[in-house]
Amino acid sequence: MKQIYMDYAATTPVEKEIINAMVPFFNEKFGNPSSIHDFGIKASDAVEKARSNISELIGCIPEEIIFTSGGTESDNLAIKGISYLNKDKRNNDGFNIITCSIEHPAVRETCKFLEKQGFKVKFLPVDKYGIIDTNDLLESISKDTFLITIMYANNEIGTIEPIDEIGKIASENNILFHTDAVQAVGKEEIDVKKQNIDMLSLSSHKIYGPKGVGALYKRKDLKIQPLAHGGGHEKGFRSSTLNTPGIVGLGKACEIIVNNFEKNVSHYKKLRDKIISNITENIEESYLNGHPEKRLANNAHFRFTGIEGESLQLMLDEKGIAASTGSACSSKKLEASHVLLALGLKPEEAHGSIRLSVGRNNNEEEISYVSDALQEVVKKLRNMSPLWNR
Ligand code: PLP
Repeated sequence: MKQIYMDYAATTPVEKEIINAMVPFFNEKFGNPSSIHDFGIKASDAVEKARSNISELIGCIPEEIIFTSGGTESDNLAIKGISYLNKDKRNNDGFNIITCSIEHPAVRETCKFLEKQGFKVKFLPVDKYGIIDTNDLLESISKDTFLITIMYANNEIGTIEPIDEIGKIASENNILFHTDAVQAVGKEEIDVKKQNIDMLSLSSHKIYGPKGVGALYKRKDLKIQPLAHGGGHEKGFRSSTLNTPGIVGLGKACEIIVNNFEKNVSHYKKLRDKIISNITENIEESYLNGHPEKRLANNAHFRFTGIEGESLQLMLDEKGIAASTGSACSSKKLEASHVLLALGLKPEEAHGSIRLSVGRNNNEEEISYVSDALQEVVKKLRNMSPLWNR
């Protein structure tokens, strides 16, 4: 059976060119990048090249990149790292940390964990498209606010937050700004200096690199409390022997983005727009979740009246199509997505939603195949649904 992968927001395949770049660092160049002999120097040179590839992509300097095990660790390191240095600001009246209600669990659960330790966290509401109101942000700031952490773009509905404005507000109020850009990297042009971003999280496996590696950009002069203590790697901010092959893969992934940005983004947009029009024009009571324009180039997220997203996903899977009902992490849970509920959707509407995220390997023929399959499956499910009696 033909298989079509349209779940690139969950993870991406590792590109051949990236695998080829990584392979030597598993065997012939296996040295520890901290060692000062030739084996170590070869590994360390490769790590530094990757650091510079990442910095070029996001507009910082190489010294501002800390390698981690992925987006989750980068988020934890940024948020806890700053909070632990600001413990004395707890238990006052105002909010210490301002975030929003549709963050990925890597940020959301970290903030909830900190709440239990006495930090005050404001979870800003979002509008029906998933966008925060910057007036709410301004009103939530107090003298004890030390961190704003708002995602660049949402992993489920693809909505892009007003990052430039948030950065400006943070900088004018002397508050640090962290953004989880795991989904935005490779689809949005990022310039941390121009956008007043102090810390930014990214992950390799969403950009055609290997799993288990990521990075945190942290402004050079910014102090954070490390989470792991040990040999003092990464200037003491993240101890543990560096994952050289993974880092080389991440660096190569960033280099490929820099060299092919416009071509890839316009490819994603063409496919995304085609699937959005195919579905919303041909399936009655089908709706696009998230913002119609301010959305990730590769994200299409739909809701269908009278249908359960899980059944839809399973029936698509039977036709060889990989889609998702939510974020990769929550799709095995049965509760409605906190993101869709935050948009004001009813639980049954949230359950009737599905995400299709396209990637470099998709083509127009696949978009047509998936659109036809969706039409057929929605019809079938509605015929069986007690919620659908038109
Ligand atoms: N943040 C966002 C927005 C994500 O989409 C993801 C992954 O789904 C993560 C963080 C976690 O990244 P990782 O899987 O590299 O830990």
